[in-house]
Amino acid sequence: MNIQHHLSDDLLLDYAAGNLSEGWSLVVATHMALCPSCRKRLSAMEGAAGALLDKVEPVEMPADAWDRMKRRLEGIRIEEVKAPRPAAPAGSGMVFPEPLRSYVGADLANVKWQALGLGAYQVRIPTADPSTQVRLLRIPAGKPVPEHTHVGRELTLVLSGSFHDGDDLFGRGDIEEADDNLLHTPKALPGEDCICLAVTEAPLRFSSWIVRLIQPILKI
Ligand SMILES: [Zn+2]
Repeated sequence: MNIQHHLSDDLLLDYAAGNLSEGWSLVVATHMALCPSCRKRLSAMEGAAGALLDKVEPVEMPADAWDRMKRRLEGIRIEEVKAPRPAAPAGSGMVFPEPLRSYVGADLANVKWQALGLGAYQVRIPTADPSTQVRLLRIPAGKPVPEHTHVGRELTLVLSGSFHDGDDLFGRGDIEEADDNLLHTPKALPGEDCICLAVTEAPLRFSSWIVRLIQPILKI
């Protein structure tokens, strides 16, 4: 099965233009490491932007422009994808592609999971970006993530296993883009824990009062 859920044009354009902060860039670049199709779309956008650039007058660049460009280029360093759906047996060292690997290490077995209750786990990924929260989530096989809404955008990239949200199925490499309007309950498919990279704009607001009560303690 191919990757079914891709980056939106808006996100890809913002990424190409260097407008995304580190948290969003990390999830976008990690999706692209798994997704030849979005890499192709990005290079088409960059080609079009380059052609336009040839027609504009040069302007003064910010001092950090080159560093930002280098970071972006490092971000899309590609893992060659042999199969349509990149396989990642859980427990192997192949779950985390670059650039995520630079943040969490190569080996899933070394992740220091923190219990969220109900069999779910998370680990916060430190970044220099105060505007986002970046986490790995582990949803137990067959179980839902606690029902939640969020302030602003949320991007969830599946790294291992799969979940469904309503009628949509998300497997390795698929990305779900959600906003404040969506009250959703992703549920892992039976048979395998689902490991995701999740980036949110602000702390999640869980709907269940008990989860909301313990939210400050768990720092989610
Ligand atoms: Zn894609």
